[in-house]
Amino acid sequence: MAKAQKGPKLQPVRGTHDIMGDKARTFRFINKVFQDIAKRFGHEEISTPIFEFTEVFNRTLGETSDVVSKEMYTFEDRGGESLTLRPEYTAGIARAFISNGLQQSLPCKFFGFGPMFRYERPQKGRMRQFHQIDVEILGVPEPQADIEVLALAATLLDKLGLKDDVTLEINSLGDKESRDNYRDALVEYFTAHKDGLSEDSLTRLEKNPMRILDSKDDGDRALVENAPRISDYYNEATKAFFDEVRVGLDALDITYVINERLVRGLDYYSHTAFEFITTKLGAQGTVLAGGRYDGLIEKMGGPATAGIGWAAGMERLAELVAPDLVPAPARPIAVVPVGATCQAKAIEIAQQLRSAGHRIEMSYRGNMAKRLKRANKVHANEAVIIGEDELARGRVMIKNLNDGNQQEVVLDEVLNYLNLYLSLEVKKL
Ligand code: ATP
Ligand code: MG
Repeated sequence: MAKAQKGPKLQPVRGTHDIMGDKARTFRFINKVFQDIAKRFGHEEISTPIFEFTEVFNRTLGETSDVVSKEMYTFEDRGGESLTLRPEYTAGIARAFISNGLQQSLPCKFFGFGPMFRYERPQKGRMRQFHQIDVEILGVPEPQADIEVLALAATLLDKLGLKDDVTLEINSLGDKESRDNYRDALVEYFTAHKDGLSEDSLTRLEKNPMRILDSKDDGDRALVENAPRISDYYNEATKAFFDEVRVGLDALDITYVINERLVRGLDYYSHTAFEFITTKLGAQGTVLAGGRYDGLIEKMGGPATAGIGWAAGMERLAELVAPDLVPAPARPIAVVPVGATCQAKAIEIAQQLRSAGHRIEMSYRGNMAKRLKRANKVHANEAVIIGEDELARGRVMIKNLNDGNQQEVVLDEVLNYLNLYLSLEVKKL
């Protein structure tokens, strides 16, 4: 026999988590509510690969974005290709749009869910593998799409019971003309205050000065306070677009505040940018964020196509959702054979009950007391006790674990009996 090897590291990688129990149920619940709502808004599911060519993200997210400059999991595969674990959904969906020639079928409305990967400093609400739900509308340059994705987000947060926990902040980053003018003003302002800028922001000043507004550095933030305001640079088209979005939100009773510093971390946004934030999660207060990215697909090499969407962090949502909103797992029926000769019948009955939709807790070992103890521990409603004597008479014993009553039932009637009993139980609730 080979000499025992030193064991593997038995810790999860820093910033990654196992998802099970209540957390898994909460994720599933959020996802289900999300999918139901997204479908009602006419969105279709999309699932893109977890890794893409690095270029897909490099080119689109912008080299000065935090994600590209320091957070990507990039590696060379065995064939020498540079690949990256997806840090977000939008770039992959835009790539899928181009690869599949979907410009023939505009508008496209997608929703997706899955893990994302960013090399960040792990802390509460910030992981290296985390999960996002995501919504995108491609091919609708009209402000109606902005209103719709925001309505979808607001409906979701409402259905998750979070309406009072979050605030919607919106901003307009304007069209290209407005943004170019604003950018010039920012460059002038920050160049005059260069000495106070962080190293990162000096780079941003060269490459994408608006990103300085998004800086988390205290020195930068102080300067940002007095920086020119974007609304002073809106042209008529930008104003009209933003007005329409706001009128739409008002009509739907979606409340918001305007935050002119909200520019979003990624380079590809234009017009509407937004975040739903909460004060209930400490420093990681952004629950859901997104915006319009009309230039993205063209920048990627596809046909000019408007786009707007958002992503929400599953872990942050799960942290906020009240536990009693999450449906508890169905209570099982315990199938308890007593003695080896009853095993085969037990398996048969268990299978019959499963086929009828019941959740079965199969009992594998121990005396009857032990088996019933286990049944109680997993909150079984009923135990179907299969003993030799009863079986010889073509019967089993069904024990109500809620009140301890038991009743002999003929084999053919087990399913009917349980269905009747359980429907009465449901009525009692
Ligand atoms: P932050 O400012 O918190 O870093 P971000 O601007 O990088 O957020 P987005 O790229 O807009 O975040 O992602 C959308 C959402 O995904 C966030 O609002 C958040 O809920 C979630 N999210 C982003 N990064 C992480 C992470 N490392 N761990 C957990 N959730 C995350
Ligand atoms: Mg981030």
